[in-house]
Amino acid sequence: MATKKIEAILPPRAPHYVGDGFRVHNFIPSVPPLSMQRMSPFVMMDYNSKFYFPPSNRPKGVGVHPHRGFETVTIAYKGKVAHHDSAGNSGIIGEGEVQWMTAASGVLHKEYHEEAFSKSGGDFQMVQLWVNLPAKDKMSKPKYQGITKENIKRYKLANNSGVIEVIAGQYEDVEGAASTFTPLHLLNAKLNKGGVVDFSFPENYNTGLLVIEGKIKVNGTEVNTDHFVLFKNSGESFQVEAPESAIVLVLSGEPIHEPIAAQGPFVMNSRMEIIQAIEDYNMGKFGHLND
Ligand code: MN
Repeated sequence: MATKKIEAILPPRAPHYVGDGFRVHNFIPSVPPLSMQRMSPFVMMDYNSKFYFPPSNRPKGVGVHPHRGFETVTIAYKGKVAHHDSAGNSGIIGEGEVQWMTAASGVLHKEYHEEAFSKSGGDFQMVQLWVNLPAKDKMSKPKYQGITKENIKRYKLANNSGVIEVIAGQYEDVEGAASTFTPLHLLNAKLNKGGVVDFSFPENYNTGLLVIEGKIKVNGTEVNTDHFVLFKNSGESFQVEAPESAIVLVLSGEPIHEPIAAQGPFVMNSRMEIIQAIEDYNMGKFGHLND
């Protein structure tokens, strides 16, 4: 199999706040060349690098807001995140757990620090990805998948290299718990010091990784913590080495070859559909959710 070479190693840009609870570095779509089309089906990636939030009696986060046309996927590494939405779904995720919310035709939701975590304060670290939906599924029914510790599938690497947690898609013969609308793989590689792991994805899949913890080597090239590696759309396989213990989020997906019209919390195919989404939201068609 041919090697999938690195196209770019991208440092985190200056952080900004989403609400008052998420201090994030945006990678997709604001760090060139990570545009929505370049990384499709991943159209947004915010990364809250490890950051200490002091104790707070009022949970910090983002208040009620709408989404339509895609899925929000929140992966917690430190701290705990709570979610409520107008489809009646809610959940709390902690370290190593994932919220997979399909907004599709539209929901209101709120995202904030879990209550006990807020009260105690502590290190907070998470990733939020927006996974686009193909046109035919954009107006399907909203749903929620809480992927907790018990249903994360794990592949144990040889030679005590570590473990691959499969959130969606697969690694070797292990399939992830999350169901997806288009083919994609979302993996957490938790590597021990000295660990080595090989990955292989189809050439045309848009593929990248984010170093959550530790320093790693990708095809022999050193990559620092909190950096994103974008791979070329040629070759299939690459290798990650962990000179020290490391956590790496690996994403790879088949691009959705459709036009993208995005504005704020809506990702549709045309300008008309964005206007419709705003109108539907203003008319209360996304349901109701208390602050
Ligand atoms: Mn949201």
